[in-house]
Amino acid sequence: MFDSNIAIIGAGVVGLAIAAKLSEDYTDVFVIERNKSFGQETSSRNSEVIHAGIYYPKNSLKAKLCVEGKYLLYNFCKEYEVPYNNCGKLIVATSTEEVMLLEELKKKAFHNGVKDLRLLNEGEIKELEPNIDCYGALFSPSTGVIDSHFFMKQLETNAINQGVQFSYGAELIEVNKIENGYEILLKDSDGKDFSFKTKKVVNAAGLESDKVSGMVGMDNESLKLSFCKGNYFRVNPPKNKLLNRLVYPVPNPNMEGIGIHVTIDMGGGVKLGPDVEWMPDNIYDYSVNKLQQKAFYESAKKFLPFLELNDLVPEMAGIRPKIQKQGEAIQDFYVQEELKKGFPGFVNLIGIESPGLTSSLAIGEYVNNILL
Ligand SMILES: Cc1cc2nc3c(=O)[nH]c(=O)nc-3n(C[C@H](O)[C@H](O)[C@H](O)COP(=O)(O)OP(=O)(O)OC[C@H]3O[C@@H](n4cnc5c(N)ncnc54)[C@H](O)[C@@H]3O)c2cc1C
Repeated sequence: MFDSNIAIIGAGVVGLAIAAKLSEDYTDVFVIERNKSFGQETSSRNSEVIHAGIYYPKNSLKAKLCVEGKYLLYNFCKEYEVPYNNCGKLIVATSTEEVMLLEELKKKAFHNGVKDLRLLNEGEIKELEPNIDCYGALFSPSTGVIDSHFFMKQLETNAINQGVQFSYGAELIEVNKIENGYEILLKDSDGKDFSFKTKKVVNAAGLESDKVSGMVGMDNESLKLSFCKGNYFRVNPPKNKLLNRLVYPVPNPNMEGIGIHVTIDMGGGVKLGPDVEWMPDNIYDYSVNKLQQKAFYESAKKFLPFLELNDLVPEMAGIRPKIQKQGEAIQDFYVQEELKKGFPGFVNLIGIESPGLTSSLAIGEYVNNILL
């Protein structure tokens, strides 16, 4: 009676990691993706940083899955030759007050299982990064960067090799609960509707995950997403050569973002970002306003003395799917099989913002354990 065991909605890095994990044990796993290929949305519009797990509240899913995910990700990169660079990062204090905050961050990280952070003095910093200015820094050796496209391609390959069927260009438009499962209604790129029946559903629809949850009848106001754009500016050559590691400011306490930072990608390009721009009507707007250039410059100039305004060129933007509302405190990832709400076998993943890329393999294992 059922066409599939599990239907995963969304082929971002999270849906792909879940598909690759679940297909180790399950047959008839389908992935439904509205775009023509995987990872066309948030998963290809981010900093590509393998986060250490420093910032997140103790005992949160963000902390647990980031730390576990980081180890899984480095091992995956080695096993499948995914390009990565375990370059490390510095969190820099740009005032004496911020030096105290570095101590607090170090303690917080320790409770999350990140025990390798080191406080550096000015001399030690100069040895690592002679071109930055600061009063002190926290060095995170386990932070790195990854080629996220390569990583996603490998996840897709692994999933296909284990029998997963991908439906690209197919948009989920309706989900109905039926006896012992769910009926899925899709619209393909030619506008044709089709449907199938599945025992379980995994909602990994990123920016649309609250709406997908609503489709089956779970309209939960506290899980409504707010879009929060992060813009990036590129640092023009040759100044991209002046840094060897990622450099971050001390984060804002409510963690809307973790501050405009320096990211070095696998091609050696250096970009600054992301900033925090709330999108009042949850619109998909990936444009980067050139007028932000000055704000980026002023923010980064505090620790990059060599920077000049014209070194910065608009590059790209991504949108964070936030459960947190503007001005409110940080929220955790929401990952639940919705048994209590009357939807057994329906797993919601909502608010998978950063560190979702780092956590993706751990999220795959977590969802697998939920469905066991
Ligand atoms: C600016 C920014 C910087 C970030 N930096 C980092 C970082 O450095 N490190 C890190 O670990 N994380 C980072 N993140 C977080 C990370 O990018 C995300 O957590 C991750 O990409 C989320 O993946 P996803 O698969 O959940 O979502 P997505 O990539 O958005 O995938 C969801 C998919 O669902 C599909 N979909 C939606 N609705 C439907 C529907 N109705 N039918 C069919 N398909 C549908 C979409 O097309 C999409 O492809 C950053 C995020 C942002 C925005």
